[in-house]
Formats: sequence, C-alpha cells, structure tokens
Amino acid sequence: MAFFQMTSLVMKWIFRKPVTSRYPFEPRVPLAGSRGKLVFTDGNCVYCTACAKKCPANALIVSRDKKTMEIDRLRCISCGYCVDVCPKKSFSLGEAHSSPVTTKSSELQIHKSGNEETGAPKAAEGNSTSAPK
Ligand code: SF4
Ligand code: SF4
Repeated sequence: MAFFQMTSLVMKWIFRKPVTSRYPFEPRVPLAGSRGKLVFTDGNCVYCTACAKKCPANALIVSRDKKTMEIDRLRCISCGYCVDVCPKKSFSLGEAHSSPVTTKSSELQIHKSGNEETGAPKAAEGNSTSAPK
C-alpha cells in the first residue's frame, strides 16, 4: 500500500513545474504590493526633515541648507514610514529590492536638486540636519 502511495506521489510531482526558480538565471519577479526599494523624487521636496525624523533606521539625512537628501540603502528596511509622513509625496516604495552591492559606500545616494549620485561619501557631520529620533 505504501509503495503505491509513494509511487503516485512521485508521479504527481515529477510532471509538475518546480516551485523554486533558477535564480539568478531566472529573474525573480516581485509580488504585487511588495515593499522594495525606496524611490525619491526631489521635485516637490521642501527638505522639511519630517521623513528623517520618522525613519526608525536613521537611513535618511536631510540638509535644509544644502538641499540634499541622503539615503543609506544598507540601513533602509523599506518600512514606508517616510512615504506616509512626507507632505509632498516625494517618496514611494517600488516593488523590486535594491540591487546587491559589495561595498557600503556604493549604497549611499545623494540627491541634489534633480541630480542623483550613487556611491558618494556621506556628508560631513555638522553640515546636515539629520534627524535622529
Ligand atoms: S518629508 Fe518629504 S518634503 Fe520633507 S524632507 Fe522628507 S522628502 Fe522632503
Ligand atoms: S522606508 Fe523606512 S527605513 Fe527606509 S528610509 Fe523610509 S522610514 Fe527609513
């Protein structure tokens, strides 16, 4: 009896599509509604620092004077608090995650009035209006 049960299970699964994918050869398609990479659109940003104050991971550094926004991708946990709190709707969460990186410096992004730089060093302390909780 057990032999027939096992055989029927084997036959059932042998013709099914695998439940796993051959990543990275098959790119992983994020599920709808997934919380992925934080996207910053600085056209509306007034550098009020509300997002940085709300961020539980201290992943954001906002400078009112320099009008810069730094996002530390290693710290961001894609919680979406900054998306909810921003009065200008400057943040959104994409469904795909950030690409893997091998160095910490490459995960820091600086946005300066319409330009985006990747891998730039952090702004010197004292120049920024960072918002620890
Ligand atoms: S809360 Fe919005 S408007 Fe204020 S600094 Fe953050 S992104 Fe800019
Ligand atoms: S999504 Fe969450 S962790 Fe990431 S920057 Fe916004 S508030 Fe911080």
